[in-house]
Amino acid sequence: MVDLVTQYENIKEEVQTSINSILEKAQFINGPDVHAFKEELEQYLGVKHVIPCANGTDALQIAMMALDLKPGDEVITPSYTYIATTEVMGLLRLKPIFVDCDPHTFNIDPEAIRKAITPNTKAIVPVHLYGQACNMEEIRAIAKEHNLFVIEDNAQAIGSDYTFADGSKVKTGTIGDIGCTSFFPSKNLGCYGDGGALCTNNDELAEKIKMIANHGQSKRYYHDRVGCNSRLDTIQAAVLRIKLRKLDEYIAARRKAAAYYDNFFAEFDQVKTPFRDEKTNHVFHQYTLQLEGVDRDGLVEHLAAKDIPAMIYYPVPAHRQKMFAELETECGDLTTTDWLTSRVISLPMHTELEEEQLAYICNSVKEFIK
Ligand SMILES: *Cc1c(COP(=O)(O)O)cnc(C)c1O
Repeated sequence: MVDLVTQYENIKEEVQTSINSILEKAQFINGPDVHAFKEELEQYLGVKHVIPCANGTDALQIAMMALDLKPGDEVITPSYTYIATTEVMGLLRLKPIFVDCDPHTFNIDPEAIRKAITPNTKAIVPVHLYGQACNMEEIRAIAKEHNLFVIEDNAQAIGSDYTFADGSKVKTGTIGDIGCTSFFPSKNLGCYGDGGALCTNNDELAEKIKMIANHGQSKRYYHDRVGCNSRLDTIQAAVLRIKLRKLDEYIAARRKAAAYYDNFFAEFDQVKTPFRDEKTNHVFHQYTLQLEGVDRDGLVEHLAAKDIPAMIYYPVPAHRQKMFAELETECGDLTTTDWLTSRVISLPMHTELEEEQLAYICNSVKEFIK
């Protein structure tokens, strides 16, 4: 699905020089690259504070802790997402309220959010799925109207822009109270291990987040609240500094591959290509087709036989996961979610796709659906 080997070949020297220098100075924890990366990412995103942490799941957990969400508090979230988004709610004994998504963007449906609000609702966690921003204009308005926190799960959409009706343009992850992202290797900005970050424009929240990620420590060995140990390694920060400089180029490569797929599949009724919301630029963490009357398992097998990976993201939506059976949850009408999980398929999508490879993938899909 991704070609991180070829991508590495192109930045190998820079990466090796940088990592070697860390090894020679043994600056593994909180080395200068961590602070430099934090500042460079703040600048790139146009946000006041970036707080690096150990992974995207931690970022979500820390965000919910920093907003002082308490057991039983209701949090409105899509069911159609990667498990990390909702798993941390289970861990903190919050009450996830699973709501449906829009059939075009696959993102949380603002109308469904409105219907799910109760006096116990404390937060909304929209997920910018596959690299396309949610309807943040509406979500922000709903949150304001009902005095709710917004935590953006930006793990799949870093670098994406969102344009509001008034013309203001911002990066995803900087719109809600807190934005969370992941630097898992296959993410659009990925390191060579685990990594994550939170961002916020709120000074007070930034302090709280920093404290929670560092054992609830206000000063060394003074622990004011329960926190966790969640740091970004210096080596990962060094890799991310190099890749952040290339992020826009990487996004452009993904969008170019997506345009190729779009163009090829336009004439086939059996596949529906990704919808493009004009308020945002899709950064294509995944390129996901909807199949119409095509045997999906058969197609996956057909592609596998031709050495083409294809994945189903996600075969089981959160509300149907066993992990929630024992926990307090609630579900809205999830018709679209269930319908989508039965018909989506993601094709290879990364920064190194050559036209020849794209043609091979497309023609292989065509062979099966024709
Ligand atoms: C990858 C991902 C996460 C979690 O990130 P990790 O770094 O793997 O913990 C959370 N939410 C979404 C939507 C993701 O895609």
